[in-house]
Parts: sequence; C-alpha cells; structure tokens
Amino acid sequence: MDRMTELIETLNKYAHHYYDLDDPIAADKEYDALYYELIALEQTTGEVRADSPSRRVGGEVLKGFKKYTHKSRLYSLDKCQSYDELEKWFAKINSVYGQTEYTLEYKFDGLSVNLYYKDGSLTTASTRGNGTVGEDVTAQILTVKSVPLVIAFKGECEVQGEVIMKKSALREYNKTAAEPLKNERNAAAGAIRNLDPKVTAGRRLDVFVYNVGYIEGATLKSQSEMREFLKENGFKVSDYFETSCDAKYLAAAIEGINERREGLDFLTDGAVIKADLLSIQDELGYTEKFPRFAVAYKFEAVEAATVVKDVIWQVSRTGKLNPLAVLDPVDLGGATVARATLSNISEIRRKDIRIGSRVFVRRSNDVIPEITGVAEQDPNASEITAPTTCPSCGGGVRAENVFLYCANPDKCRDVIVSKVAHYASRDAMDIAGLSEKTIEVFYDKLDFRILSDLYRIKSEDLLELDGFQDKKAENIVGAIRASLTAKLAEFIYALGIDNVGKKAAKELVKAFKTLDGIKSASAEEIETIRDFGEITAKCVYKYFNNEKNLKAIDELFSLGLTLEEEEKTSVIGGFSGRTVVLTGTLSSMKRGKAKELIENMGGETADTVSASVNLVVAGDSAGNKLDKAKKLGIEIIEEEEFLRMLDISIS
Ligand code: AMP
Ligand code: ZN
Repeated sequence: MDRMTELIETLNKYAHHYYDLDDPIAADKEYDALYYELIALEQTTGEVRADSPSRRVGGEVLKGFKKYTHKSRLYSLDKCQSYDELEKWFAKINSVYGQTEYTLEYKFDGLSVNLYYKDGSLTTASTRGNGTVGEDVTAQILTVKSVPLVIAFKGECEVQGEVIMKKSALREYNKTAAEPLKNERNAAAGAIRNLDPKVTAGRRLDVFVYNVGYIEGATLKSQSEMREFLKENGFKVSDYFETSCDAKYLAAAIEGINERREGLDFLTDGAVIKADLLSIQDELGYTEKFPRFAVAYKFEAVEAATVVKDVIWQVSRTGKLNPLAVLDPVDLGGATVARATLSNISEIRRKDIRIGSRVFVRRSNDVIPEITGVAEQDPNASEITAPTTCPSCGGGVRAENVFLYCANPDKCRDVIVSKVAHYASRDAMDIAGLSEKTIEVFYDKLDFRILSDLYRIKSEDLLELDGFQDKKAENIVGAIRASLTAKLAEFIYALGIDNVGKKAAKELVKAFKTLDGIKSASAEEIETIRDFGEITAKCVYKYFNNEKNLKAIDELFSLGLTLEEEEKTSVIGGFSGRTVVLTGTLSSMKRGKAKELIENMGGETADTVSASVNLVVAGDSAGNKLDKAKKLGIEIIEEEEFLRMLDISIS
C-alpha cells in the first residue's frame, strides 16, 4: 500500500470512530501529525484523492447553487399528533397485512439532504428542494465530518439524512461567536445554504442518515437491513432504533422519546414510524406528497409565537428589577405559557421587543420561558420603558451595568419578602410552611421588617391573623424555632449572598471551617477556592465586611442561633462512598475508562439504576436508565460536570 493510501485510510478510520461512532481511538495530536503529512504529500504530488480528508476544509466561495435532479424523489412525511390517530394509522395497515413489523426512529429536526455516491465516492449532495430537484450543496456537505467521502459499496446509490447542529456544538460555537446562534435547526440550515463552505465548516455540523432512496444492484429487504447497510458503509446512524409489531409498545416508546428529548444533544420534533418490510412499503406507495408506509408523530413545539401584552418589573431579593413579559397565553409543549423573562432593558432594545410585538417564546427544562426574538413587528407596538421608581416601594432606582436596582433594598417590601423566603427555603434553613404568601402577611400585618424579626414572632401574634388557626400558628412558630439550629453551609447559603449557591456555600465551609474563618478571609484567599472566580470572591468578601450584615448576623445569634460548624463527611466533589451508574455515550472516553477512574477515586460503579445508586452520569442519547434515575430522584450529572469531578478539562 502506498503512503498516501495508508495515510488516508488511517485518517478516515480515526474520523469515523470519532464522528460516527462517538468512540475515539486516536489522540488529536496523532491525527494532526498524519493529516499534515498527507497535506504535504498532496502538495508535492499535486494529487488529491476523492477520499482525502483535505477536501473537507471548505474551498472557494461559490457564486450560486447548481440544481440537482434526485434519482428518486424525496417526500415529506404525513403527520399525526395523538395516539388515537396513530392507532388508526396502524389499524389501516394491519387490516391489509395482518400483524406488521414497524420501525421507530427519532425525527431529526434539521435540513434534509440527499447524498449521491457513484463508484463508491460522494459525488453530489443536495437539498430536498421541491422533492424532484434540489440545490447542489456538495461543497458544504464535504465539510461535515460524519459524512463519508468514500464508501465500500461501489454501485450507484442515493442516501438520505438530516443535517443537524448538535446542541453542544451550538453552545461551543456561541462561546466565541460575534453573533450568537439561537436555534440549532436554523443554524444548520443556514450553514448549508451559505455560499461560503468555510462558514459551513465552522459550524461543525453532523448528518444522521436514515434512508437509502435509490440503490443499484443490491437488494435490501427491510428498513432494518437498510440501517445495517448504512452502518457498514460508515454512515452515522442514530443509536436509537426500535422494531416492534405492538402498537401499544410503540406508543409507549414514543412517549419515552418525548420525555427524554430535551436531554438529547440534538433537536427532535417527533418520532418516525415506518413499515419495516420494503415489499410492504412498495405496495403501499406514495400519495402526491407523502409515503403511505410512514408517518411522523409530531411532538408539541417547545417554541411558539405569541404577542407581548405588557411588561412588569419584578423586584428580586437582591433588589434587582427583572422585566417579565405578560404574554397572550400560548400552548408550549403541553403547558400554557403566559409569562416570559426578558433579562434587562438593553436586551429588550437589542431584540427590539415592544408591547404588541409578536415574539418567539422558547421553553427549556423547568426554567421560566424566554423570548428569543421578534417574529413580527406590529407598527402600533409601543416601546418598553425602564421604570424610574421601584415598583415595590416607590423609591428610587439605580443602574448598574445593564441592570436596574431598587435604591432602598433594606426598606423595600418585595426585597425583604423574597430574602426571607430564600432564607426559609428547603436547601437553606428549611422552615416548613413559611411560604412567600405567609411572609407577605407578616410584613403587612405584623410589622415584620428584618430577618431577625422571624425569631421574635410568637404564636399569640399569629392567632389574631386570618387563616392561622391554633395548629397552623403553632406549627409555623415551631418550624421557625427549629431552624435556630442549622449547619453552617446551609446558613451561608440562606444569607443569599450574590453568586453564592448551595455548592459555593459548601465549598466556603470546606475551605474555612468556621463562620469566623469565612468572615476573616481575604478576597484573595476566597478566590483560591475551586470554581470561585474573582467576582464571587469579591461578593463574599464584601458581604462579610459590611457592618450592617455583620450586625444582622449577630442579632440572629443573640436570638439563639447555633451553627454546626464542621461539615460531616461531604460527598460533594468526589466519588468516595458513592455508587455511580454511567448511561449514554461519553464523548471523551469509553465507559470502561470512566468506570476505572471512578473506582480509582474510591467510588463504586453499577450497571443498573436502583435506590442504592447515588449518582448517574448521563452521556449523549442516554435512555431508560436516565428516565429511571429521574423517577427515583437520583442526582444526575452531565459529562462536563463529570469531567470536572475527575478534574479533567476538555480542550
Ligand atoms: P416535514 O419536513 O416536517 O414534512 O418532515 C419530513 C422530513 O422529516 C423529511 O423530509 C426528513 O427530512 C425529516 N426526517 C427527520 N428524521 C427522519 C427519519 N428518521 N426518517 C425520515 N425522515 C426524517
Ligand atoms: Zn424597592
């Protein structure tokens, strides 16, 4: 074998393991060395072969797109949105063919692409276009590393797949991008339609293939065989693929996808169900637009458009004024959304959001929905103005960077109420029954003004208030009293210091042991704590060097507060004493390696999720185990956090 062939084959093998199989077998350095050797060889010989990875860098800017006529037409998919509809669809096919085997796959939300191979080489890549004629995007697709340049199969064939940008790729891109990308689907489609292939290359796209549309001289009998064929020829196919003839099972599997799809590293807007046997597919054929043998079960959108009715400014516990959009209620992924966050006034201006604008609203896991941009501007829409007085106390406001703050937080009702609510919350002092509503009542009726007033409340005071019968008054006062004994880390967190969450509070205690230790630490000393930046360190330092704060803390002590200063065996930050389950694919290492590292650090590993498991590491496409861990309420971390715990950073 000549050196060029050897280099190309090795490089392509490494890339296939990295990009298609998510299972790297070579170090970046090793790859790079061989790659530069190949480039040098190509320059001296003037020969660039069809399968050379150097073709992927993205060449000249194109003048326009040529047309490509597909060998076999590309169809859209018929849709259904309820299990009732899906059941009817199954019944119709089963009434003709009896119990039929179906396949279930993700419906990738990207841009469809048709890959034409001739003599084993990628010859043309094209968009769907009108189904018959598409645009030639070969130069762009060449930059997508998961698309093989050459395949083992030498007959003519057309393979269809979806170009996507992974969520992780978008996050990575946005870290350094001058203009951040908002949505993975649009980012992928925009990159493919860009005339400059270098732009495409920079987006680090992927293609998941799912169909052979045309093939010369090979007989594939089923969708499952098709998938094997695609795998054998080095294409990237999804890990997730099921076959079953049980309609109930398939419906449950679709629901499973719906539950975990937020956690997948790519967008899925549904599931695709196909009759497995190609003989059945051929017989059923196509309507004008859709195949009759396949259907897409569409999930409800996580993004929707609606109108901004009003903007209110909420005062948070730090005194910050947070703009909140009041929306025309809209259904988003099964929930009605009537409010969305707007960050700050400069963000509002940048996105040109007005009262009356039609906007896109997006929801990600559990957090309050955000407005991603304007869908349509109404000419009568009115500008959103920043408040000049605090909406809670009517006092002045001050600006700091792009944010507005109440100028008198110590006297501001909303600030006090939410500070105390934070103090009482579960991970802080855990005062059962002391809700925000209750604290509001204390403020309005009992002249409750500072945190320490909590410990001055007597059940007799409460009995005079509406809705506080004997038991309730006693319970609340009992819970408040009980909070007088607490762990130091919980207390530090309860204070609500800017940027100090649960974890940071624990780290502070670990580093300085006692409250006095924390109080007397310098900003530089605090900054040495792992994951503490300069800003957090300054916040802590400032908090404990503020007379008012120290006085407030002393007052709590004089009312009986006692803190358990030394932390009992904290497991945060290590695996020692924990049973860990790995699920999904890790991009940085094989599972065996990950297990070894956990065990080296004193942890145990298990293969199945049970109540005795303490931690689940969820890689890409994590499935059942992740669902189960969620149900059992086990702590779940992603790969990034896992690497952090191992003290490994991905460069
Ligand atoms: P739509 O564009 O909403 O009509 O949906 C049809 C499109 O879904 C197809 O043209 C494909 O681009 C895309 N698609 C995504 N995943 C799959 C899949 N697993 N099987 C078939 N089509 C898919
Ligand atoms: Zn105020």
